[in-house]
Amino acid sequence: MSTILTSLEIKELRRDFPLLAQKVYGHPLVYLDNAATTQKPNQVLETLDTYYKQYNSNVHRGVHHLSQVATDAYEAARKTVADYIDAGEDKEVIFTKGTTDGINLVASCFGKAMLKPGDSVVITAMEHHSNIVPWQMICEEKGATLKVIPFNTYGELELDKLDSLLDDSVRILALTYVSNSLATINPVKKIIAAAHEKNIPVLLDGAQAVQHMNVSVRELDVDFMVFSGHKIYGPTGIGILYGKQQWLDKLPPYQGGGDMIKTVTLEKTVYNELPFKFEAGTPDIAGAIGLAAALKYVNAIGIERIQATEAALMDYAMEALQKIPNLRIVGQAKQRAGVISFLLGTAHPFDTGELLDKQGIAVRTGHHCCQPVMDIFGIPGTTRASFAFYNTEAEIDALVGGLERAAKILL
Ligand code: PMP
Repeated sequence: MSTILTSLEIKELRRDFPLLAQKVYGHPLVYLDNAATTQKPNQVLETLDTYYKQYNSNVHRGVHHLSQVATDAYEAARKTVADYIDAGEDKEVIFTKGTTDGINLVASCFGKAMLKPGDSVVITAMEHHSNIVPWQMICEEKGATLKVIPFNTYGELELDKLDSLLDDSVRILALTYVSNSLATINPVKKIIAAAHEKNIPVLLDGAQAVQHMNVSVRELDVDFMVFSGHKIYGPTGIGILYGKQQWLDKLPPYQGGGDMIKTVTLEKTVYNELPFKFEAGTPDIAGAIGLAAALKYVNAIGIERIQATEAALMDYAMEALQKIPNLRIVGQAKQRAGVISFLLGTAHPFDTGELLDKQGIAVRTGHHCCQPVMDIFGIPGTTRASFAFYNTEAEIDALVGGLERAAKILL
C-alpha cells in the first residue's frame, strides 16, 4: 500500500483549489459532495484560461497556425487519457459529454447493430439511472429484455446468480465499477472474465472509480468504459468513452455531422475512422485539454497515494459516524470507495442535509439517481458524504459535530 498524504501535503494541495477556502453562512466550507462533482485545481483552471486566451481555434480543419496548435493539444489530451486508463490505442478513446453521454452512445449504437427481439441486456440493481434508462429505451425499441443482478443487504452483488443470468440471450452486460450510492467496489475483473467466457461484452461505468483507484482497461480486459471529467478534477461537459477497437469498428456512428465523415455526397456518406467516427461536430476542445490537465494533476500526486489517503479518511469517517446514536449506514460492503450513505434516525435525509448546509457542510441528499437502490432498502433516500484526497479529518469532525447538532433538532 502506498503512503498516505501527510496533513502538511494536503494543506499545500488544498491551496490549488481556491474554492475550498471560502466560507458558507459564516462557516468554513466543508465540501463533501465530491461524488457529484469534484473541485478544480488552479492547474486545470489555468489550462482552460490559456486555451481561450492563446490558442482557441477549431480542431482538425484548419491549415492555420492556431488550429494546428489546438489540434495538437486536443490529440495530446486524448493520449493523456489513453495513458491514464492504459488503453492500447489512442483511437480507442472517444471524447463525449460525460458518463451519461457515453452510455447512451453505446446503448444506442450497440443496440442498433446487435439487439433483436428475444435478446437481453444485463445490468445490476445498483446502477445510476444513466446506466438503466438508456438500456430500457433501447430494449423497448428492439423488443429485448433487461435483466438485473441483485445485491444483498450489505450492498454486494449476488454473484451466485451471475451464471444463470448470463444465458444465451444476453448480448451485453453493463455495470458500475463503484456504486455512487452504496460505495461498493464491485469485483469487476472476475465479472468481466465470467461474461467473456460466454462471449458477452461488458460496459463498465467508471464514473466513481477512476478518481479513486488505478484503472487499467487492458488489465480488466473490459470492452467499453465510460467516465466523466468533472468527477476527476476536470471541467464539466467532457467525458470519455473507451472502447476496444474491434467493438467500436463494428458499431454504427452515434450522430452525423462534421468531422465524423470521410466523404459526403448528396447520395452517400463514407464515415471517418476511429476515433472521429464517434465525434460529430466541434468537440469540447477546452474540456478535453482541461481534462488532460486534471489527469496530469492526479498523476503528479499519484493515484495510489490518493487511494491510500482516501481509504484512511473513509475508515476515520466510518468509525466516527458509527458512534453517533441512531445513525444508520446504508451500504456496508467490504470493498468500498468514495462515499458514505447514511440516515439519521427517522429524519428525512433532506432535513439532515439542510441543517448541515447551514453549518457550511455540503453533502448530497436524496436518491442519488439510484431510485431502485432506495426502493430495495425501502427508504426515500440517504444523506451522502463523499470524499476526495483534499478532505481532512478536521472536516470529518465538523461533519460529526454538524450531525450531532442536527440530531438534537430533528430527533
Ligand atoms: N454513473 C455513476 C456511477 C455516477 O455516479 C454518475 C454521476 N452521479 C453518473 C453515472 C452520471 O455522470 P454524469 O452526470 O457526469 O454523466
